[in-house]
Amino acid sequence: RAKSEGRGRFVFFGPDMERVMRERRELEADLRAGVGRGEFELHYQPLVKVGTREVVGCEALMRWAHPTRGLMMPQDFIPLAEECGLIGPLGDWAIRHACNVATQWPDHIKIAVNVSPLQFRSDALLHTVVSALAQSGLDPVRLELEITEAVLLRDSEETLATLNKLRDLGVRIVMDDFGTGYSSLSYLRVFPFDKIKIDRSFVRDDAGRGDCHAIIEAVTNLATGLGMTTTVEGIESEEQMSAVLDRGCTEAQGYLFSHPLPIEELRGVLGQSDRRAA
Ligand code: C2E
Ligand code: MG
Ligand code: MG
Ligand code: MG
Repeated sequence: RAKSEGRGRFVFFGPDMERVMRERRELEADLRAGVGRGEFELHYQPLVKVGTREVVGCEALMRWAHPTRGLMMPQDFIPLAEECGLIGPLGDWAIRHACNVATQWPDHIKIAVNVSPLQFRSDALLHTVVSALAQSGLDPVRLELEITEAVLLRDSEETLATLNKLRDLGVRIVMDDFGTGYSSLSYLRVFPFDKIKIDRSFVRDDAGRGDCHAIIEAVTNLATGLGMTTTVEGIESEEQMSAVLDRGCTEAQGYLFSHPLPIEELRGVLGQSDRRAA
């Protein structure tokens, strides 16, 4: 293992390094052009109520229809967008687009949008949300902003002020990927989130099941005590679902219910849940 790491590190300074750098520059140029050309889309993954499995919301997940590379996933371009200063315009677009789309849905369906820690760097985020809500006419309580612990790691006072202003608008603030970062518990005291999403690493089959279920139950109890709801992420099988069923979680999300869907395919899913509710 040490040997191969050593080899990897050596190659990193060789001709491969140049190739990596060149590809990165190309991708950055593509990204810049792509933002201008509007090559991005949102796919939507349903969130269901535990128990009834009724769809109560959807998470918007960004995709990039790259002209030659095909449909790209967020982990392959969001970090780059963050590094080269494009996450602002991209994130803005996502919030505005998601709000517009959600106005076409039944009123009880919420829309969740992921927000990068870097979008908190300026006042722009607040302005974007205010104007996206005004232009779309979406009821603010239907908008959920998903942030990670990384947001709270940095200049907390300004960030907290922004979070509180967003909250005052009626927007719901969600802590995403809970349990993967540092000091998760203390952050729950620093800011009163509306909802906690328990990271999917706690439902994976290989991950020491009994312990994970105990953690899910403990986090859910804690959240409930603090007046927050919970979503368990990454439910892929009936077995995983039945394991979390009695642990008090409010919502579930995962491939078992639906993969993230392009908007055309989502309509059927929402129509269905609408009929069931009626
Ligand atoms: P996330 O917010 O935690 O989103 C959940 C991710 O888990 C999504 O990956 C989703 O497709 C995936 N997932 C859902 N159910 C399952 C399941 O049952 N099993 C497994 N293995 N995975 C499941 P995706 O779409 O690749 O997004 C990855 C991350 O990229 C997101 O994680 C989020 O942090 C980020 N991201 C996505 N869209 C945006 C965006 O518009 N803005 C920003 N800043 N970040 C975004
Ligand atoms: Mg998320
Ligand atoms: Mg998540
Ligand atoms: Mg995640």
